[in-house]
Formats: sequence, structure tokens, C-alpha cells
Amino acid sequence: MKDMGLYIDFPFCIARCAFCAFPIQGFRSGLAEEYRLALHQEIELLASSPEMEGREIDSLYLGGGTPTQYPAEILIAFIEHCRAHFRFAPDPEISLEAHPATLNKSGLSDLLRGGINRLSLGVQSFSDTHLHRLGRNHSAADADAAFQAARSAGFENIGIDLIYGLPEQDLEDWIKTLQHAIALSPDHISIYGLSIEEGTLFGKMEKAGTLTQTRDEVLLDYYETARTILGNAGYLQYEISNFAKPGKACRHNQRYWNRSEMLGLGLAAHSYIRHERRENTENLSDYIEALKKGKSPSIRCDKISKEDEQIDKIIFGLRKTEGIPFQFLKHDAQRSRSASALANDGLVEIHNNRLRLTPKGMHLADEVAIALI
Ligand code: SF4
Repeated sequence: MKDMGLYIDFPFCIARCAFCAFPIQGFRSGLAEEYRLALHQEIELLASSPEMEGREIDSLYLGGGTPTQYPAEILIAFIEHCRAHFRFAPDPEISLEAHPATLNKSGLSDLLRGGINRLSLGVQSFSDTHLHRLGRNHSAADADAAFQAARSAGFENIGIDLIYGLPEQDLEDWIKTLQHAIALSPDHISIYGLSIEEGTLFGKMEKAGTLTQTRDEVLLDYYETARTILGNAGYLQYEISNFAKPGKACRHNQRYWNRSEMLGLGLAAHSYIRHERRENTENLSDYIEALKKGKSPSIRCDKISKEDEQIDKIIFGLRKTEGIPFQFLKHDAQRSRSASALANDGLVEIHNNRLRLTPKGMHLADEVAIALI
């Protein structure tokens, strides 16, 4: 049996956050019901395809969007539907992305009983001022309450996502947010530097001159501060943005960086399977209509050449702190020369026959990857 990851996208949110460029929609019950039916149909369609033969799911991730806008019983029904149609490994990781304003203790207990064994809480900041600017629709106290409710419901694997480089955030604010997160003792912490995308509220504010992107040197300072604080608190960094207590690294996300097979279901979902990349439509009505007719909502399917696979393995693999096997580059004179030049600049190093980013290289990971491909 070959293991595989399954991702299901839920494109509904309470409101659009000021920095978000994802294709999300407001949650309306009629539309959400149509989407639920379409997803069930897509699960059946894909599970019955011959390419699923010899595959078993060892990680399932319900993400989005805000999947927890659906009631717990509907989310559990998705898991049961997947289990009824796909073959699962004996101990799959089943993760759920959750918005703090959508959780309560009885729903959380149901989700745990229904098979969710990992919760990823989108907190972003523990400052009410910053949460308000981000348009998050929850306070720091709501995030604390959601976290405690999940722990008391019995969740033993909870992650918290945070963003740094927020408008008018200073280093002291960022340290307070990190310390607040650590005091809750989550099993996993992800940190992302704010990037201002065109078309978002922050993007429009930047264009209008009322907001400026935090300078790179400042972002680097925040990132390095976080690495030190999280490391001192016992969180092991295993990827540029991800830190976990021992044994709590997210199995599903590691599949992306290892370029392992992944089947994506739902709006705009991407798959990486049998040397092909596929992409579902981003248009919600097209997605629903295709599945009503029993057709695939995929709008693109590209064969991946050996060289492209190699490039993907370099780009994504370098994001992991363990890096990539040096043999990936050893037989390629041009790439070996680039790796030596990057090492001379202090951006990469060779350790245990693997090429990995240095702390300085982690902040410039995209530039390093470009130099190597
Ligand atoms: S909750 Fe997540 S997906 Fe939804 S708008 Fe905010 S950032 Fe985007």
C-alpha cells in the first residue's frame, strides 16, 4: 500500500480578513448545503477511480476557509464518508482548521469522538488591537477560551497560527503574543510574516498610502526573535515557519514539503498524484454544477517531468530544517556550483550529507531555491 494525504477545502468564512486573498465566500446555508452535497459527490467520484488502487490515506486535513462554520455533525459526516469510500491507514492524522469564534466545548467533544485528532487554531495575534485591525472577529480572550475548551474536551494535539510584521506592531507586541501562546502550551506553533497581497484590504490601504509593508530587516528581526523564544520554550523547528513539541510535527504538511502524493478535494483544491498536478476550478457555481452532473471539477491536469519533480523536491524540501539529500545536486555541475556559492554567502550548509538552509538562508528561502533550480 502506498500512503497518501487527503485535503478537503471549505471555502466559507465569517468575514474576509484584511490580509486574505483566498477565494472565500460568506457562509449562506443554502449554498453551504449545495457545497456539502458536491463534496460528498467528489469523494465518491475520486474514491472509485482506478488510480486510488493501492493507496491508503494516512493524513486527512479539513482546511479552508473556515470548516468550523459547519456544525460538528456535518464535519464528522465528511470524515465518515471518506472512511466509507477510501482505504485509511490504521492511525491516520485527522486535522481540522478552526476559527476561535466558531468553537464550543460540546461541539469540540463531538469532533474528537468523530475522529479529529489534531486541531489547528487560527489565532494570528493575542493583541486585541491587532486582531481588530486584521478584521478577525474574535478577541484574544476568545482564542484563550477556544484553546482551553479544546484541551478540556481532550484534544492532545493543538496548533496555533500566528502572524508577525502586522501594521504598527512593534517587537514588544510580537514578544508578548509569542509568550502568550507559549503560556497556553500548544503542541505546535506556526509563524508567518505578513505579506500584503493585491486586492486585499491591506493591499488597497498600501496603494492608498495608509499602510506600509514592514521592512525586511524588521521582519528578519521578528523571525529570529521568534526562533530563539520558541526554541528556548522547547519547540523544535522543523520547517521555515513551523515549530512543534517533540513528536508533534504535522504529518499532513510534511507531505507537501516531501512532495508525497496528495489528493485535494473541494474548491480550488490542488492534487499531486501519479506524477501529475491537478487543479479544481475556483468558481463555486462551476464546482457545484460539475459535480451535480457527476463530472470532475478539475480544470487542469499537467504531467510532471522528472526534471520538474526534481525542482519541486529542491524548492519544497529546502523549507525543512533537515534540508535535502546532497546527492540531489551532486551529479549536476551547475547546481553544485550554485550550492557552493550560496554556502560561501552563508545561506546554506552541508550537514550529514544533506544540504540545508542556515538561519540567514531561511529568511531568504525563495531566493536560495531560485539560485538552485
Ligand atoms: S479566516 Fe482564513 S481563509 Fe478566512 S478570510 Fe480569514 S485568513 Fe482568509
